[in-house]
Amino acid sequence: MSLPKRHNAHSFICLLTVLALLMNIFRATTFAENETALITHFTMSLANKPVTRAMTIFFYGALKGHFTAFRSLETVQYDEPMTTTLTRADLYSLLARALAEPLEELPKEYYLGTEGDDLPLDMFAQLGVVNVPANRFFVNEETVSWFEAQQHVVRAVLPEFRIQNDPAIVSPQQMYSYEQLEMDINRLLTLYPQLLTVEVIGQSVEGRSLYAMRIGQGEHEILIDAAIHASEWLTTPLTMKMVEEYAHHAHHGTLFGQHDVAVLLQEVSFWFIPMINPDGVTLVQSGPDAIIHGALAQQILSDSEDFTTFKGWKANSRGVDLNRQFPISWTTLTSVRDEPAPSHFKGHAPLSEPEAQALYDFARFRRPVLTLSFHQQGEWLFWYHKQTGAQLERDEKIVQALAAVTGYRYQYYNDNGGKYMDFVITELGVPGITVEVGTVVGDLRQWQRIWQQTRTLPLVAAELVLPHF
Ligand SMILES: [Zn+2]
Repeated sequence: MSLPKRHNAHSFICLLTVLALLMNIFRATTFAENETALITHFTMSLANKPVTRAMTIFFYGALKGHFTAFRSLETVQYDEPMTTTLTRADLYSLLARALAEPLEELPKEYYLGTEGDDLPLDMFAQLGVVNVPANRFFVNEETVSWFEAQQHVVRAVLPEFRIQNDPAIVSPQQMYSYEQLEMDINRLLTLYPQLLTVEVIGQSVEGRSLYAMRIGQGEHEILIDAAIHASEWLTTPLTMKMVEEYAHHAHHGTLFGQHDVAVLLQEVSFWFIPMINPDGVTLVQSGPDAIIHGALAQQILSDSEDFTTFKGWKANSRGVDLNRQFPISWTTLTSVRDEPAPSHFKGHAPLSEPEAQALYDFARFRRPVLTLSFHQQGEWLFWYHKQTGAQLERDEKIVQALAAVTGYRYQYYNDNGGKYMDFVITELGVPGITVEVGTVVGDLRQWQRIWQQTRTLPLVAAELVLPHF
């Protein structure tokens, strides 16, 4: 062995500590308690000090009870010396070797979590070796602490210390396409057949399916829609991630934030419509060649004074703004275009577009107790359209609470109608809330912030609205 001396000494002390600890915790009653004891110990004693590769390998060898594996791991070729601090990518490489899985044979689905890398993170998650974090995303270059390394090594070596994880399906930090959406819906349905159902509520102009996923068995329904505006496609992975996390936590009976999802889903059903404008989204993401109406879109764009690229395109594939299509004050709308445009053309008649019609019909049929519409941008909540009396009082209370959860601002926003939320408030008489996430449209670097701000929003909204029904 060729470890520097200072590491050998330190390692030996740590090894003794660990072995002593393991002897003790094997006497404890449950594995969950064992794990807690182990973690508490390391948190207290070694905390967040960074660890080196050499130390991690040593620890693995010690737990394994022999040093053969240690030697083979030691010979793993690295560009960096063994004494440098361990990055998360290093740790997972080591774990992969330690587990001796034939990685080449694993299906591609297991390689989730990092970009531009093929570390089998999701395999570790499925084996229970690593915790899947709330955001289900691993940062490659992050330095690994003693605590984390040891926790993972212990779980890799000793299956009884593993915790249950589900594979992460939705990988939200990507330009999330219609094809990706279909793939993820199918995989979620396969993984959570007891919890999720899907319906196709209509077809887009170009024949793409408009999906609605239901989670929950409750009698009161909440409708959540996203990406009615094409450029705001980031709201699709946002809502898909919510579906996955809610299903995951309901399945395991664990809390998500403060929320007991499984219990809530007995009273409430959420309908997620993650991409109501798939043609427009495809145009924004892949350009005019990717859609049937590409030439028309190109023409509309060149006629436009405000847009030079498809990046900010909000409309569907034939230049109609789907969120100006709803029959509330539609004839008297101002601030709209009178011909097809990248945004703000209300159409030649209300509900002339199949996407708007599908959303309208679905909402009228389901009779939700609340709707949430995800848009970009500005960190605003819009909620007001001429409601009065008890309805106004109820809705303002709810939006105040949602503003507290998200940190978003809200205001009276008496626009002149045509929007989905205006229809919900006016015709269905329930809170119709528009959530404007992020400060830059389509900027995935804001993902963490957006996710933290909004991930529990539908759950909170459900808890707030239920007493009123
Ligand atoms: Zn929008």
